[in-house]
Amino acid sequence: MNTTPLACPFCQLPLHLHASSQGFYCDEKHRLDKNTQGFYSCLLGSKHKLQTLSRQQMRAKQFLLSSGLYAPLTAKLTELLQTLLSNNADSTPKHWLDYQCGDGFFIRQLHEPLAHEQLHTWGVSDAENALFAANKFHTPATLLLSSTKRLPFNDNSVDVVTVLDSQLKGQECQRVLKQDGRLVLVLPNSRHLWQLRKIIQPDLVEKPLALNLPKTLTIATQTQVALTQAVTAQQGEALIAQSNFGWRTNKSTARTVANISDMEVDFDWCVLVLKRAE
Ligand SMILES: [Zn+2]
Repeated sequence: MNTTPLACPFCQLPLHLHASSQGFYCDEKHRLDKNTQGFYSCLLGSKHKLQTLSRQQMRAKQFLLSSGLYAPLTAKLTELLQTLLSNNADSTPKHWLDYQCGDGFFIRQLHEPLAHEQLHTWGVSDAENALFAANKFHTPATLLLSSTKRLPFNDNSVDVVTVLDSQLKGQECQRVLKQDGRLVLVLPNSRHLWQLRKIIQPDLVEKPLALNLPKTLTIATQTQVALTQAVTAQQGEALIAQSNFGWRTNKSTARTVANISDMEVDFDWCVLVLKRAE
């Protein structure tokens, strides 16, 4: 029997892998099979409201991620994950879960230097079209469509959970994390995209980052990745579209951004490695 960290979406019993079909099944004989779009749907019935990203959002994100502006961040993350997921002496399988993996960009960027026989990579998203894209781009992971309210994993089953492009909400990421597991969280720091934010909101004042971490987690390490990069108008527009201040844009500020050329913009990320609080 091939055990996995997965829990049956129907009855929560552990799921086993059926090697020849690459499907999963529980002792109650529920089955979870890969669909023709290349991922496993853990949504039950029509109860769940399916999330979709707009085509515009998907394009903006793909454009941004492939523009190289995130390379300093992915370099730092690769270094961190190499330490956390390196092949251990007793060769027990390691499980890496990328929470809200989107179209799989970070998995594809980070996977190669980490890959070893004992590493299993899981990508979870609640957006069906994002996973469709993740499969199309050959993301090297088992892709799961799931509500973020209940992840299809057993308690204490995952070595590393990454939350790289999403907010940490609820308790699910902590629930699935092993006792000695680590959660890697990326947050925009106080100077992140400062010059673009100043265009949209001229009276903006700098505030220190408020972490607001859940009580069940404590900081193992905290690293800042900060640098200034030249940004084109197209990149600037995409960065604003992706941000949580984009809604403040009006016609006049949009025109200003459309006319920038190689504007120096601060990128400032806080990379947290979190562990369970004692
Ligand atoms: Zn079941």
